[in-house]
Amino acid sequence: MKIKIYNNTDTINSDVEDMIQNLTLFAKDRFGFQAHPSLHLNSDVENAEDTLGKTGYYDPNNMEIHIFVDGRHDKDILRSIAHELVHHWQNEQGMLGDQGYSGPGYAQKNPHLRKMEKEAYLKGNMCFRDWEDSYKATNYNERGNIMSLKEWKNQKLNEKLMKKWFGVIKENNNIEEEVVEESDNVNEEEVVEESENVNEEEVVEETANVNEEELEESTDTAQLEEKIFNAVMAVLKGK
Ligand SMILES: [Zn+2]
Repeated sequence: MKIKIYNNTDTINSDVEDMIQNLTLFAKDRFGFQAHPSLHLNSDVENAEDTLGKTGYYDPNNMEIHIFVDGRHDKDILRSIAHELVHHWQNEQGMLGDQGYSGPGYAQKNPHLRKMEKEAYLKGNMCFRDWEDSYKATNYNERGNIMSLKEWKNQKLNEKLMKKWFGVIKENNNIEEEVVEESDNVNEEEVVEESENVNEEEVVEETANVNEEELEESTDTAQLEEKIFNAVMAVLKGK
């Protein structure tokens, strides 16, 4: 489910909106808030000219997050949103009700609100950092650029195939272990050595090579599967 974004700017494009949705779901999962806040991306030139102008705030009564975007880096905007999402979670937990003084200097004068602010900075920034790293790991290539659709499809395909074939390797290892236990005719040590040859690292290296060099060129699923299968079987046979 998505949050409602009121984009009142002409500088935030749909790619950034998609990242905002992704970040919000990540935060929802981490903090466990239930209701979705609405997000208002605002432009306010006068505020932007003030060095210490507003960057954003949370309205607990209407569950609205307001962010001022003028002249800011997209990443800074996303970090602001993570901060306000903590306040949204605090609100759902009943921590932002009538909590006394909330005028200027509340972060210094009101110990409870100071605590809320401290928590929002800490949890918001760490949530943002963790989201950023996980987002990059699944959406960026090794060059640090956002993956093309083709690169992304290849990566998803690789992940699927690796899962599938690592499952096969596990099964094969189990079979060999059973052989060691059940058969007296087979020399135990030999069998153990044999299966130790199926070294996990080798398998990873082998398939990783197939990955980088061959998978990139070929997009045909059946061909890819066959190549990985052959590579895995070769390793299993100790070639
Ligand atoms: Zn705050």
